Amino acid sequence: MNGLPAVKGFIETSFVDWQGRMASVVFLPRCNFRCPYCHNHRLVTDPDQYRTLDLEGVFAKLEGLRGWVDGVCVSGGEPTIHTLLPQFLEEFKERGWPVKLDTNGSKPKMVETILMTGLAEAFSVDVKAPLESIPYRKNAGRGADPASVARTLAILADWGADVEVRTTVHPALLTIEECVRLRAQVSEIFGRPIKVKWQLCRGEDTLDPALLSEHTLKLAEFDKLVEEIEGA
Ligand code: SF4
Repeated sequence: MNGLPAVKGFIETSFVDWQGRMASVVFLPRCNFRCPYCHNHRLVTDPDQYRTLDLEGVFAKLEGLRGWVDGVCVSGGEPTIHTLLPQFLEEFKERGWPVKLDTNGSKPKMVETILMTGLAEAFSVDVKAPLESIPYRKNAGRGADPASVARTLAILADWGADVEVRTTVHPALLTIEECVRLRAQVSEIFGRPIKVKWQLCRGEDTLDPALLSEHTLKLAEFDKLVEEIEGA
């Protein structure tokens, strides 16, 4: 179908993108956020440098993985900025592929449409910072609106959707106190304690080159930081 979002990347098998499942991952271009630590920034700012994959070719590869792969993560970039995302996801549904949608939560109406049409079984929402303007802009760029992210979380909570909340931590951008506040705010929206999946910021090839020279965490330091957040 013409006008569907272009597929700019495809990973055949991943153990880490959909908890408990072996999944393939499809990457869509562009994003409305500008997280300084973004390591997919070429896909965000200059997606034309990547070849567009033929969707039928992707489905042919998926067919060869049937029985081995349990579902497909639709990621990016930011998938929900594409107005024809529902039609894109429909193509997977028609072929019997369960989908998990990865989103930055900035497009609550699109997420609601996906929920209403049953086009995704699960969602991962990247919550960038406490749901407040200043830390959100610091972690996701000037255009990032935490109220939209909060609305998306509330919609997912109302629907009782299968949701994973993820946060990338860079010590120059997010403090332990902010992480604790973020978790409390998200838990309040869901009306129950939410376990946030803290992710280590890879201090390499970041959107903002200044971050490369900033202190980035080594794995052991990150584990200690997560312990502190969880213990707070
Ligand atoms: S939300 Fe941030 S990290 Fe994710 S693709 Fe957009 S700019 Fe990159």
